[in-house]
Amino acid sequence: MSAFLSIQNIKKTYGNLTAVENVSMEIKPGEFMTFLGPSGSGKSTTLYILAGFQDPTAGDILLNGKSLLSTPSHQRNIGMVFQRYTLFPHLSVGENVAFPLRVRKVNNAEIAERVNNVLKLVRLEGFAERMPAAMSGGQQQRVALARALVYNPPVLLMDEPLSALDKKLREEIQLEIRRIHQQTGVTILYVTHDQEEALRLSDRIALFNQGNIEQIGSGQELYANPATRFVADFIGDSN
Ligand code: ADP
Ligand code: MG
Repeated sequence: MSAFLSIQNIKKTYGNLTAVENVSMEIKPGEFMTFLGPSGSGKSTTLYILAGFQDPTAGDILLNGKSLLSTPSHQRNIGMVFQRYTLFPHLSVGENVAFPLRVRKVNNAEIAERVNNVLKLVRLEGFAERMPAAMSGGQQQRVALARALVYNPPVLLMDEPLSALDKKLREEIQLEIRRIHQQTGVTILYVTHDQEEALRLSDRIALFNQGNIEQIGSGQELYANPATRFVADFIGDSN
């Protein structure tokens, strides 16, 4: 039996530079998996390969036993929220959220219902008519989250979605993300360089270092049983 989401020996090179090497993991449905590690360690590259923005040099990704690599990005049914995943500035909040459904030719009645439900989920009920420029940074990220979730993708990718926000707002939205994860059961792959954030959010953490995974486990496992000196230093470091 194959896993829900299986990342198999992914490698990515840019010319002479090896960005990612031997990245493998099995992710369970509904799991919250975080890619943690310092800048340049290959976290985003791995996520972009999952999203279909980049092709791996070697390796495979299987969703429900089927390779994703030949499926174009927009057909992978994977939701995405990025640090600067900007909203469409000329579209209202409601139309931003509706966009993935319009692309999929969903009918208007269903669009209205789904947009309403997902805005409720991110606690932005009543904001559909607003323009993005009239929303705070935190609200805009919640709109981006609503847009990513509106078609119920089985997998949601988030690349440092909170790093542009201040600490208080970051902690507030961390709680929101946890609640939404529990409420929807969506499988989340989350990238951060912040070990506190990783420990707070994740079921498991994959700790990246120079394009390789040092260790995969719960925060507790990494903390209590670090496989390498790097893991001990990175997880223990509470700057
Ligand atoms: P992280 O997200 O962990 O900060 P990245 O996955 O962005 O790391 O980058 C891993 C390595 O790959 C870095 O050395 C980075 O400079 C390099 N890299 C990433 N994207 C490209 C690209 N498009 N072209 C060349 N090198 C890249
Ligand atoms: Mg990155």
